[in-house]
Amino acid sequence: MKLRTIKTTAITFILLGLAVMALVLVVSESFQGIVAISGLIIVVIGWLILLFFWKCPYCHTHLPFAGSLGMKVCPYCGNDLEL
Ligand SMILES: [Zn+2]
Repeated sequence: MKLRTIKTTAITFILLGLAVMALVLVVSESFQGIVAISGLIIVVIGWLILLFFWKCPYCHTHLPFAGSLGMKVCPYCGNDLEL
């Protein structure tokens, strides 16, 4: 899987999970627990995608999360990440 696809998928899951968690503010009290847990699970899936697949395709080292927004080359081997 391409690194760009992994990044887009993980960010989508995290933002979707946060949006679902924000629904806690508008749903009735009886659904708040299930909505909050569902949102949390979706966020965790996004983080797990980053944890397991956010690696350099060349040296297979885990890439840092911080500063990944503008990252163009691997900070460890220097190869182009094609992001
Ligand atoms: Zn690398």
